[in-house]
Amino acid sequence: MALWLPSAVAQGQPRAAGATLPTLGDSGELTVGAERRLGERIARELLRDPDYLDDPVLGDYVEQLWLPLLAAARQRGELVGDMDERFAWRILLGRDRTINAFALPGGWLGMHLGLISATATRDEVAAVLAHELSHVTQRHIARMMSQDSRVSPMLMGAMILGAAVAARNPAMGQAVVSGSQAVAARSQLNFSRDMEREADRVGFGVLTQAGFEPEGVVAMFERLAQASRLNDDGSFPYLRTHPLTTERIADMRARIPVQAAGSTPVRIDWTHGLAAARAKALSSVGVDGLRVLVREAQSLPADAPLVRQAAALYGGALASLKLKDLAQAARLQERLARLNLTDSPAVRMVRLLGGEIALAKGDIASALAAAGMRPSARPELLMAAQALLLPAAPGQAASAEGAARAADWLQTWVTDRPGDAAAWELLAQAQSARGLPLRALRAEAESRVAVLDYSAAMDRLRAAQNLARRGTNDHIEASIIDARARQVESLLREQAAQR
Ligand SMILES: [Zn+2]
Repeated sequence: MALWLPSAVAQGQPRAAGATLPTLGDSGELTVGAERRLGERIARELLRDPDYLDDPVLGDYVEQLWLPLLAAARQRGELVGDMDERFAWRILLGRDRTINAFALPGGWLGMHLGLISATATRDEVAAVLAHELSHVTQRHIARMMSQDSRVSPMLMGAMILGAAVAARNPAMGQAVVSGSQAVAARSQLNFSRDMEREADRVGFGVLTQAGFEPEGVVAMFERLAQASRLNDDGSFPYLRTHPLTTERIADMRARIPVQAAGSTPVRIDWTHGLAAARAKALSSVGVDGLRVLVREAQSLPADAPLVRQAAALYGGALASLKLKDLAQAARLQERLARLNLTDSPAVRMVRLLGGEIALAKGDIASALAAAGMRPSARPELLMAAQALLLPAAPGQAASAEGAARAADWLQTWVTDRPGDAAAWELLAQAQSARGLPLRALRAEAESRVAVLDYSAAMDRLRAAQNLARRGTNDHIEASIIDARARQVESLLREQAAQR
């Protein structure tokens, strides 16, 4: 693992002086609480980075891999107590084509889209996630910080990242550290070989207990190693921090039970094929990259394997959508739908893609049909809400009835998932369309809290309080806003005390 510093940090001029050291516990290790706070400081920066991507479809796909891994880690006693409750256990996706994944303090993980697009099955992605998860559950970050020789680069990186908050806010920052120092710190933040071995061992147990196939893992690492030998252009940062020695591959092979080794055929993973195509399109840089994907879909040989056709059509349709060629996007999506895939998660992805194209066209009915009658999963819910908030006719506002329905669904959703910034943002739009500015402002504030940006949240809450003072009959909302303002104020104080 390497601690990835978002591009904005490497380019900015954060300061290092004046940052306080995170508290160490009695054992000399970073406490769970201190590690959580450190993680939040770093996550706050990643969440603001323009390369951070909240894609509901890929987010849902990754969550389907992540939740079983977390459950397995709990069953095996790797993930317990304080750490389970207080760490974030969230994966942040980065719009980056390189192959990388990394563990951050406090249960935050980062994953580049390149890792999804370069893999062939869900088991391969799960293997990497299980390994990174194990770095966190084995407290490798805390252990690193307690080993003298390793403390300084790690702490340095964390402090630079934390101090970048100050750098972005000129009122608070006196910039002194140059970007090159941030890059220098980054290159040193690696775990020890013993820790890597431990993460391999623990991660393998978690992976198999969660029901993933261990076979594909070895195949993937061999494929990655091969590809990186042929093309060492820096697209494989994961391999730089996780060198694939013959010993490591042999170790992984040795863990696979004898009867399974070699006997499990690598199955065709339709859903992963589509997810990989999506990751490729979403991480394509510029118009040219997108056009290549469209051409690939258009020039498909009729006898190409079905799985390749499906991926190419999906990627081509999404690329056309991004290029705003909606007619082309619809044509490719329809060809994809006619392939009659039978794997139901893949069918769902094709349907959701149709819904995205409908949203872009302003076709409310088709987008709602794609989302389903009572959307219960995140991609469907956000799609339905977006559809209901579209103008009822060109130049018109959203229908009041539609906005009320969207608000109802979203309100239920955020009650269970208060950390969903995108849902709060849509709820703010819905409340505003209903003529409820107080509720809209609070939803906006909550969307800022969800990305750990407490000062922006406080701005919205103050605006809401001012509005309420000028007179309101929504007294319940006004008192919720006062209570939230007090809570966010104390989060802000806590944040300031860490600097
Ligand atoms: Zn590792």
